[in-house]
Amino acid sequence: MDKPNQVLLRDEIRVGADLDAWLARGGGVGLSRALDDRAAVLAEIAAADLRGMGGAGFPTHRKWAPVAAAPAGDKYIICNGNEDEPGTFKDRFLLEHTPHQVIEGALIAAVATGANHVVLYVNPHQQQALAVTREAVGQWHAHPLFAAIGQAVGMPLSLRVVPSSGLYIGGEETAVIASVEGGFPFPRRKPPFPAERGVHGAPTVVNNTETLAHVPGILRHGAQWYRDLGAGDAAGTKLYSLSGDVLRPGLYELPMGISLATLVFEHGGGMLQGKQFKAVFTGGPSNTLLTKRDLDVALDFDSVRQRHSRLGTGAMIVVSEGTSIVRKVAEYVSFFAQGSCGQCPPCKGGTFQMMRLLNRLDTGRGVRADLEALENLCRILPGSGRCGLIDGAVTVVESSIAQFREEYETLLA
Ligand code: SF4
Repeated sequence: MDKPNQVLLRDEIRVGADLDAWLARGGGVGLSRALDDRAAVLAEIAAADLRGMGGAGFPTHRKWAPVAAAPAGDKYIICNGNEDEPGTFKDRFLLEHTPHQVIEGALIAAVATGANHVVLYVNPHQQQALAVTREAVGQWHAHPLFAAIGQAVGMPLSLRVVPSSGLYIGGEETAVIASVEGGFPFPRRKPPFPAERGVHGAPTVVNNTETLAHVPGILRHGAQWYRDLGAGDAAGTKLYSLSGDVLRPGLYELPMGISLATLVFEHGGGMLQGKQFKAVFTGGPSNTLLTKRDLDVALDFDSVRQRHSRLGTGAMIVVSEGTSIVRKVAEYVSFFAQGSCGQCPPCKGGTFQMMRLLNRLDTGRGVRADLEALENLCRILPGSGRCGLIDGAVTVVESSIAQFREEYETLLA
């Protein structure tokens, strides 16, 4: 049975690639409304306060507006389904179980911005998601609504699936563009931003899969309906990927703005037997750790930012007392070091150096100079890379030292 406030994960719309089944359950209504009044779509998305669910929480309408305002010509909507960071498993679920919700959201974005290219960018390691998305896209090609979109944007519509590289860095938005162009996913400097100069120089929107999945419901039911789904001042629902030392890990769609305690102790069932809550690695995990004193924080973009962290993708990796924070951080920094594309020497060298120091500390071989070197890297590395990978790696290290310094000190040789 569907739970209150479930929209994206409702049982009845988990129809896989079956387009007729999706349309029979209310799918297509949002797209038809968008086609009836293209000019009203941006205002509706703005009124709903739909935010980017891939990490930054940037207002979606502000990504769409400059592309909509650009002169007619080639424009791209890219649904970013690369999803490769530890602890995040929401986008693959959407693409496997309800791909038409995502595709309809991307098509509505195309209608709103006048885009004639829609690309579903999917991680090939998620084979089921890739196969279902391909089949779903094929079903849209034959549908009359598809031709209507081409007429609305004034050009034939291209809707296709592009497998990503499967690399972590391939999810960064400029790397997405490089990949869709057929190159290696090297992140690019911003500006220019994708809306100004994206795929082959054309105005481009890169939206996360979950972001686009929210769009059909907003167009179908209205902005106020969407806002009312949230808790407190937050709008809509959010997919939280809950993992770690909780009784019921899993993917939860809950009101945006519920508290961390509600997620962990009510929906997640609390900590594993005999374990005590210690901390949460959020959204990546490349953000400031949330600890016991943050259990009351509302899980929405603005409230989490006020605690100097970020909601990110909504991933919540819960760790218990007795778990070594140093070891967890060493694992995550190792992930970032392996994922660095190597364009920026401070990033490639810096993340590997941090990984080396963390491994020394974790295994009891580290001395005070190693801890000081780690802290020094946290001071000099931020801002030295083209993309946010290096800053994310530094943030989790810096935050762990600030909040769990005694663990580092205890491990010193
Ligand atoms: Fe590549 Fe790191 Fe530079 Fe990002 S910061 S572009 S991952 S080397």
